[in-house]
Amino acid sequence: CGIFAYLNYNVTKDRRSILEILFNGLKRLEYRGYDSAGISIDLIIISNNNNNNHRSPLVFRQEGNIENLAKSVFQEVASIDLNLEESFSVHAGIAHTRWATHGEPAPRNSHPQSSGPENEFLVVHNGVITNYKVLKEMLVRHGFTFESETDTEVIPKLAKYVFDNTNDGEGDHSMTFSQVVFEVMRHLEGAYALIFKSKLYPNELIACKRGSPLLLGVKELTDTVSNGVSINEVKCLIKNGQPKELFFSSDPQALVEHTKNVLMIEDGEVVHLKDGGVSLLKFDHEKTKSGGFARTASV
Ligand code: GLU
Repeated sequence: CGIFAYLNYNVTKDRRSILEILFNGLKRLEYRGYDSAGISIDLIIISNNNNNNHRSPLVFRQEGNIENLAKSVFQEVASIDLNLEESFSVHAGIAHTRWATHGEPAPRNSHPQSSGPENEFLVVHNGVITNYKVLKEMLVRHGFTFESETDTEVIPKLAKYVFDNTNDGEGDHSMTFSQVVFEVMRHLEGAYALIFKSKLYPNELIACKRGSPLLLGVKELTDTVSNGVSINEVKCLIKNGQPKELFFSSDPQALVEHTKNVLMIEDGEVVHLKDGGVSLLKFDHEKTKSGGFARTASV
């Protein structure tokens, strides 16, 4: 059970290096034990009308060891005609090693878990969602079909439900990614470290936690500040728009080789990476816990 994520901003990385960073992160988490692993990276879809290229997340998941997953990802990437040399100046990737608590080790039960075939929302999770059955029943009533036996799958599906029901349906997102995640967190009971990636919010990542460990690493390429461990130091360090590489990990072992600027995320904190900036928002579970979604039917 481990989580790792990587976002480069204004630092050019090709697809091969991004995959290598993600797999390397997972390998550092290997010692904690796992039964399956998975990752998500982007496919760039080039549209004919002007430069309106968009991103569609791809998901690769497998039982067994990371080495095998890595091998098959590199093969699959070649077989679906993705270029390993393609460069990104910004790209958000997530990765996971799973220690099954709900559902046997199998590709469908591995993470990232998804909101549906379009991968609008993808989630990697360490921990256990204790009220997943109630949430699953509610989502099934609203037409969602589940492909896994995990407790985790309710999370991306809840995000999709929140997104669909609180936006005006005209493609105008009134909600930010962190508002969607806040709304999801209101309904989760149990322990979790989560990272969200979304097709609807490309190049953004959100991490949050309650009970399970999660860290943020910031490798600023223009400054050389070290050991910035408080949020104020991290805030000073992080200048919006400056080139940087950002990491989330459930374990410091996976960050040491990249940076000493590591922040321990606290329970109830939501860290939003967007436009080369980092915002830290506080979610108070006790205060915000109540039935019902903002503009939708109650659970
Ligand atoms: N409870 C989740 C599952 O069984 C996450 C397990 C983990 O922490 O790896 O899929």
